[in-house]
Amino acid sequence: MVNMEEWVKRAESIVGSGNVLTSFEDIEAFSHDEYAMEEFVCLPAAAVRPGSEEETAAIVRLCAEMKVPLTARGGGTGLSAGCVPAAGGVVLSLSRLDGVVDADPGNHTITVQAGMTLHDLYQHVKEMNLFFPPHPGDEGAFIGGAVAANAGGARAVKYGTVKRYVTGLQVVLADGRIVELGGKFIKSSSGYNLLDLMIGSEGTLGVITRVTVSLLPSPGIVKTLVIPFADVEQAISVVPSILRADIIPCAVEFLEHSVLRCAERLLDKSWPARDGAASLMLILDGRSEDEVLSQAEDMAAIVEEGGALDMLLAENDSRQADVLELRSMLYEALRPGTVELFDICVPRSEIAGHVSFVHELEQRYGVSLPTYGHAADGNVHTHSLRCRLDDGIIGEEIPGWHETHEQVRRDLFADAAARGGVISGEHGIGLAKRDHLTAMLPAVNLDLMKAVKRALDPDNILNPGKVVYVDV
Ligand SMILES: Cc1cc2nc3c(=O)[nH]c(=O)nc-3n(C[C@H](O)[C@H](O)[C@H](O)COP(=O)(O)OP(=O)(O)OC[C@H]3O[C@@H](n4cnc5c(N)ncnc54)[C@H](O)[C@@H]3O)c2cc1C
Repeated sequence: MVNMEEWVKRAESIVGSGNVLTSFEDIEAFSHDEYAMEEFVCLPAAAVRPGSEEETAAIVRLCAEMKVPLTARGGGTGLSAGCVPAAGGVVLSLSRLDGVVDADPGNHTITVQAGMTLHDLYQHVKEMNLFFPPHPGDEGAFIGGAVAANAGGARAVKYGTVKRYVTGLQVVLADGRIVELGGKFIKSSSGYNLLDLMIGSEGTLGVITRVTVSLLPSPGIVKTLVIPFADVEQAISVVPSILRADIIPCAVEFLEHSVLRCAERLLDKSWPARDGAASLMLILDGRSEDEVLSQAEDMAAIVEEGGALDMLLAENDSRQADVLELRSMLYEALRPGTVELFDICVPRSEIAGHVSFVHELEQRYGVSLPTYGHAADGNVHTHSLRCRLDDGIIGEEIPGWHETHEQVRRDLFADAAARGGVISGEHGIGLAKRDHLTAMLPAVNLDLMKAVKRALDPDNILNPGKVVYVDV
C-alpha cells in the first residue's frame, strides 16, 4: 500500500508546497481531458507541477521508488482520455515548463520546453520569420502533448504530421534518468531510432521535457477555395485527380452542408456555397499572389471535370477567416451532443466507401453521425451523438444511446480495418480505444508493443493502462 502522505511530503520538498495539489477543487481539472464519456473520468491522488527538467526527473524517480503511477499531462485537449489518471496515482502537469531553450534561425530549428502551448510556439516561430506547419485544431495543446500524440491536423496533406518536424527530444525515463534523443540534425542512421519510438507513445514510455522541431520558410500567400458538389461521394471522388495535378494543396477538407448548419447556427455566419449537399474546402499556399491564383485556375479545371457545381475563392481575408472558422468550429458546434469524435484513417481511395458506410449506420441504428474530415490524407472525423440532430439543431437525447454508441464504434473500427486503415490517425489510443486496438492488432504486433513497454517501463509506472495493457 502506497503511503501518499509521505509521497506528498517528499514531492513538496522537490517542487515546493504550492506545486503539489491535493484538494478536490484543485485536482478535479486533472481528472479528464476533452473526451466526453464520463465513465473514464478519474481523480488523481495529487497533481504535481515541476518547474524544471531536473524537478521532473526527481518526481519520476520518487514515483519509481514508491511505485506510484504517474500520468503526464499537457494541455488536456486530447480526445481519447489519454491523460486521465486511470490507474490512480499522480498527474504530472508540464504547465510550468513553458520556455524557449534555443531559437536557432540558422539551423531553422527551435527548442522549447514541453509545456509550451502551440499558440505560444506559433508566436515564437513567427518572430523568427519561419513556419511550423502542423496545426492540430486546439492551440491550447502543449507541444509535448502534440508530440506524445503525434498530432496531425488539416495541413498534413502537404506538410505531414508532427513527427516530420521533431528532430530532438529530451525525455525523462521511467527510472528518472534524463535522455537526449536526436538533436538539430535532419538525418541519422546511427542505431535504433529511439526518437521516433517516443513520438506518439502517449506518455507510456517516458515524460517529454524538451522538444526540438525543424522549421520551414513561411509560405507567404494562403488562399481558400470552397467547391460545392451534389453529394459527398462525388466531392471525395475528385480528390485523386486533385492530387495527381502538379500542385499539392495544404488542406483538402470534405464537409457536408447538413453538418455545417451546426457551425452556421453557432457563429451566425453562412457557408459561401448554397448549392449541392457537400463541399470540398481547399487551402492553397505559395510565394506570391500570382502563383496561388494560377494554382486555383488549374484546380478549377480539374474540379469542373469532376462535376463541381461551382468554385468560390474567398475573396478577402475576412471571408477567408469566416470559412476557416466555420470549419474549425464544427467540433465546438457538435460538442454538446457528442459522445465521441472518431479519427479513423483509411487509404485515400477508401474514404468515399467509409463515408457511405457511416451513412448506412445512421439508417441502421436511427442515429446521427455527422462526418467530415481530411479528404486527401484519409482521416475521417465522425461524431457519435447521444442526441438527435435536425437542421443543425441538437435535439433530445436518444433512448439507449450508450449501447448504440458502443455498436457504432465497433462497426466503424471493423470497417476501418477491412479497408486497410487504422482506428486512430491523430488523436491517439489513450484509454478510450485501448481494448479495440488490443482486439484488432495481430498478436505479433501486440507482443512487440508490450515488449517495448516492459523494456522501458518495467514497473509500469508511466501512464499505466494506456495504449496497450501490460501486467507487471
Ligand atoms: C477542438 C479540438 C480540435 C482538435 N483537432 C485536432 C486535429 O485536427 N488534429 C489532431 O491531431 N488533434 C486534434 N485535437 C486533439 C488534441 O488537441 C491533440 O491530441 C493534442 O496534440 C494533445 O495535446 P495536449 O497537450 O492537450 O495533450 P494531453 O491531452 O494533455 O495529453 C495527450 C497524451 O499525451 C501524453 N502527454 C502529454 N504531455 C506529455 C509529455 N510532456 N510527455 C509525455 N507524454 C505526454 C498524455 O499522457 C496523454 O496520453 C483536437 C482537440 C480539440 C479539443
